[in-house]
Amino acid sequence: MSSGRDLREQMNSDAVADAFSFLVSGKRGYKAIIERKVEPVRCSGCSVVLKGEEKFCSECGTKTSFVK
Ligand SMILES: [Zn+2]
Repeated sequence: MSSGRDLREQMNSDAVADAFSFLVSGKRGYKAIIERKVEPVRCSGCSVVLKGEEKFCSECGTKTSFVK
């Protein structure tokens, strides 16, 4: 009975994406938009938003984790 087909092969098809969009939106032709949120870099010590270049937090001096 097994067809040997992997369902995941179909996940990338437009038809599946369209069906999924219909399910979540209730509208035909709606394209689900997957937002790519850019998470602000925050100091682990004081949660101030950093640029992502600092080696140390300018507010509290905590060493940042994003500098190797
Ligand atoms: Zn800080």
